[in-house]
Amino acid sequence: MKYSIATVSLGGTLPEKLAAIAAAGFEGVEIFEADVLANEGTPATIGAMVRDLGLEIVAFQPFRDFEGMPEPQRSRGFERAKRKFALMNELGAGSILVCSNVSPLSLGGIDRAADDLRELGGIAEGFGINVGFEALAWGRHVSDYRDAWEIVRRADHDRVGLILDSWHMLARGLAPDAIRSIPADRITFVQLADAPAMDMDLLQWSRHFRNFPGQGDLPVNAFMEAVIATGYDGWLSHEIFNDRFRMASPRRIAEDGERSLIWLEDQVRPGGLPPRATPEAVEWIEFAVSETEAAELERVFRGLGFALTGRHRSKQVTRYSQGAVNLVINTEPEGLAHSQQLVHGASVAAVGIRVGDAKAALRRAEDLRMTAFRQPVGPGELDIPAVRGVGGALVYFTDARSDLGRVWEIEFEPTGAPHSDRLTRIDHIAQSMSPDEMLSWRLFYLSLFDFETTPLIDVVDPAGIVESMALQDADRNLRICLNASTSGRTLSSRFLSEYFGAGVQHIAFATGDIFAAARAIREAGLETLPIPENYYDDLEARVTLEPEVIDAMRALGILYDEDGEGRYFQVYTRAFQERFFFEIVQRDGYGGFGAQNAPIRLAAQARLARPAAMPRL
Ligand code: MG
Ligand code: MG
Repeated sequence: MKYSIATVSLGGTLPEKLAAIAAAGFEGVEIFEADVLANEGTPATIGAMVRDLGLEIVAFQPFRDFEGMPEPQRSRGFERAKRKFALMNELGAGSILVCSNVSPLSLGGIDRAADDLRELGGIAEGFGINVGFEALAWGRHVSDYRDAWEIVRRADHDRVGLILDSWHMLARGLAPDAIRSIPADRITFVQLADAPAMDMDLLQWSRHFRNFPGQGDLPVNAFMEAVIATGYDGWLSHEIFNDRFRMASPRRIAEDGERSLIWLEDQVRPGGLPPRATPEAVEWIEFAVSETEAAELERVFRGLGFALTGRHRSKQVTRYSQGAVNLVINTEPEGLAHSQQLVHGASVAAVGIRVGDAKAALRRAEDLRMTAFRQPVGPGELDIPAVRGVGGALVYFTDARSDLGRVWEIEFEPTGAPHSDRLTRIDHIAQSMSPDEMLSWRLFYLSLFDFETTPLIDVVDPAGIVESMALQDADRNLRICLNASTSGRTLSSRFLSEYFGAGVQHIAFATGDIFAAARAIREAGLETLPIPENYYDDLEARVTLEPEVIDAMRALGILYDEDGEGRYFQVYTRAFQERFFFEIVQRDGYGGFGAQNAPIRLAAQARLARPAAMPRL
């Protein structure tokens, strides 16, 4: 299908929006009337600008409060339409979006509306224009696409068709099944928008919180399946009203929009792209640090029970291992890790994910218009497929089917064996980002990997609210938590400013015995995050753990949460140069991430933070 987006979805001036839309790969654009009115160019020069960018004007919109009016408003509506049609001829726009009337003056009546649209079709014909009619969820008399279709059917004019908008039907909880009996050639075009599940007024929800399919909770797939069932093969056009989108870079939002459509079409009509990659494991996490920082980081790794197990054959890169966890320290004086380190300071520069087929994962990423990363490959080195992820850090793909599965053997000189398997695997990786990036990265991960998402939750930080969501595969081989702060003063946002951008904020290791693990790291001289007495007093009153267990937790700074299915224990290291920290978790059938304890952890970290980094009021 052909992809389009409405200019109202993006921030910036009209030329900025159009440039972003063309650069993202769209073929068409819906021009919002206000964007024309606010531009100094004539409609003809705007039209030329659109076509010079290789874009087609899919529609001019919106045309409001037209059908079912009494006189004199009815006649005025037709006069208004003629002026718009003349403007559209100058612009070079072929279709107009007429949305259902919200005026208290409108009279209702299916046949009255059909008569009005038939007459409008006759006028539109003279201008060579098509009229598309859309039911707004809050339309005065027409708020259901099935009624809009009945009006279009009775209007029975070649120039009058139906516009289907996923938001307006799904937000009202209307089943999209009836779309299947609409003839494809009567559908003018299709508009798409998703939204997070929210209990609020339809108009407010629509105007401020829409987002791209893949970013929300509406059953957009079912909508698309019904559209495809009709045989429709025309324009798919995003129409997103979202304050954060309009404040963000139009480039990034347009790229997200294109990715969303590629993802959605692949969801409902698979086979065009390689399938979503199924994560099998986190193969490694790579830290970019200076040589001085490396010594300190090695001390932390050893304290956590990791052993030096390899040195890269040609680079200043070492491998630390324990259980199935591999941590890599990169102190190369050049290359991507070095530039990451220069920009971000000590940071996670890459995560290696084992999937079924690494090359196919890269092809999928490129088909989704993600940025592949390529670097010169030295003699005896593997060319490991990679894309740019959060904060510019890399996501590497590795697999067991190719030589990539032998990366340690091929690229590393062994230096010894792990001496502990107390930490068994990576349980989850938490990344911090600004709130306006969160939906972008959700879509990035969801379109690339075979992931499920958890609903967005709010976590209380001493200085504000942190929004948090998780993405994870069905087998829980890879769990990624995304955190974003809406306040400039929370630890999560302070992490962003300290770190100069988004990135990995913490890494959680899984263990089968958290008490032994916590004792071992203390004995090794690593400090854990101190947790206040009050926490344990409250725990005694709240949960059914034995008093001895709570005493042991108190002594070791272990936190606890439980859900219907299980129990969860957590302990945190102190932050490494206030940039990132480690967590050890024991999950006994528990499915979450200890969100309940996050405020306790954040407050404890805030108490330890340097005074200079404390909130500035
Ligand atoms: Mg619409
Ligand atoms: Mg965690």
